[in-house]
Amino acid sequence: MRDDKCDVVVIGAGPSGTVAAALLQAKGYRVKIIERQHFPRFSIGESLLPQCMEFLEEAGLAEVVKSAAEIHHFQYKNGAAFVRGDLNADFDFRKKFSQGPGTTFQVMRAPFDQLLAQEVERRGVAIAWGHELVGVELGDDLQTLDVIDEAGKNYTLQASFVLDASGFGRVLPRLLDLERPSSFPVRTSLFTHVEDNITAGEFDRDKILITIHHLHKDVWFWLIPFANGRCSVGVVGENGFFDEFDDESDLCLREVIDSEPTLKRLLRNAKYDTPARKITAYSSDVSQLYGPGYALLGNAGEFLDPVFSSGVTIAMKSASLASSVLHRKLQGERVDWQSDYADTLRAGVDTFRVFVEAWYDGRFQDVIFSKNQGQEVQAMISSILAGYAWDTSNPYVEKSERRLNTLVEICRQS
Ligand code: FAD
Repeated sequence: MRDDKCDVVVIGAGPSGTVAAALLQAKGYRVKIIERQHFPRFSIGESLLPQCMEFLEEAGLAEVVKSAAEIHHFQYKNGAAFVRGDLNADFDFRKKFSQGPGTTFQVMRAPFDQLLAQEVERRGVAIAWGHELVGVELGDDLQTLDVIDEAGKNYTLQASFVLDASGFGRVLPRLLDLERPSSFPVRTSLFTHVEDNITAGEFDRDKILITIHHLHKDVWFWLIPFANGRCSVGVVGENGFFDEFDDESDLCLREVIDSEPTLKRLLRNAKYDTPARKITAYSSDVSQLYGPGYALLGNAGEFLDPVFSSGVTIAMKSASLASSVLHRKLQGERVDWQSDYADTLRAGVDTFRVFVEAWYDGRFQDVIFSKNQGQEVQAMISSILAGYAWDTSNPYVEKSERRLNTLVEICRQS
């Protein structure tokens, strides 16, 4: 045995892991994070949503992020802009329907994740860097974990509870056979960072830019500006779309960008100085989000789709909900993980799901580019795009599918 028993082991030091660790450590629990990599490390998921700021605030981490924003070139963000051919639409998150922050940041995840991890470490959370969780024996009150250290040596660790925040590592879903196929088709994303050299005024750097391919409405690009003249640029499409382009990722990404006139123009002076990365089949699901001795956070649970930048927000929401249920459980209360965690989390995820499905079949795109929505509806849609997918006072959250379909009809008639 390497260490004394701790209260909670968190697998992974991404945003869901560090937010959960901060919340539980603040309640007085002994928390240990097992992280298989050393930070800073690259991660995708750079455009945050304003709803995230509430979870960072709750975990006492918002100030750390705000005060480091300049040094790490975190870019102020107040909305999302959409382009399809010669159609444009801007959503300003400050004019949203829901209460709560209306602005956030676009961040390079290497320094962002490192910042959060260093802060929770400073507060007393132990992080085993370079250690990988490879096995578990779960029970009601005692969890035994099999970990490999950097020298390749196995050791065991015991805890009262395990939070799996391993992201696409999906440690417990794999070990416990919880993985289920996503309802979304397999898509691929290619992306890189560039020195963008975009002329001032051509592009609102305070917003993420989503460009829809002028020939394929289910193919879209992100342009996520940082505060140092660089951008993250990426494309998402079903695998077959990429067949007509070069096999090699760097060339393929350049060719795809050049096939879309808006982006070709915006990035005409860009310096491509970073190798492109490719990720495929990222949408995933699980049969259950909790069980005896464990709960799944963030991407270790369900991951929908990158289109509305909801990943980090859902990850932090899951950390907030699970930490609160776990605290009550560790205090000896009877808790209902299904209603207090799984159902509550899924309610917001399902709101995003409705909008993601309607994005790819074109219904939501028609809403976005319609000039026929009143200000109030625009504010309600802005709320969802800003991440407030759990705010049931918003009719587009409470009755997403029905409300959205009615709106689609109105917009299409105009
Ligand atoms: P992660 O951030 O992935 O962290 C998991 C950590 O666990 C990692 O550090 C990993 O090293 C560690 N780990 C894994 N296995 C083990 C193990 N066995 N033992 C120990 N440690 C382990 N989200 C947004 O909010 N905005 C966006 O703009 C956005 N864009 C995206 C674009 C694409 C193409 C994709 C695929 C996703 C995007 N996302 C975006 C989603 C976002 O990447 C994730 O939702 C988010 O990073 C999830 O955070 P997490 O804390 O669950 O996991």
